Amino acid sequence: MPVTDPELIAIVEKRVLNKLVCRKCGALNPPGATKCRRCGSKNLRPKKKGGKLK
Ligand SMILES: [Zn+2]
Repeated sequence: MPVTDPELIAIVEKRVLNKLVCRKCGALNPPGATKCRRCGSKNLRPKKKGGKLK
């Protein structure tokens, strides 16, 4: 089911983008985190925009 509401898409994008992804285990971490909450790795990257919204 496609999401067509632009306001909703903006909210979802903001939430999704505002996270850090661990390069080691792939866990999502809260924004501002300095290390992974699951494995403790400091190898975090910001989640980038990409892919398609369903
Ligand atoms: Zn991790």
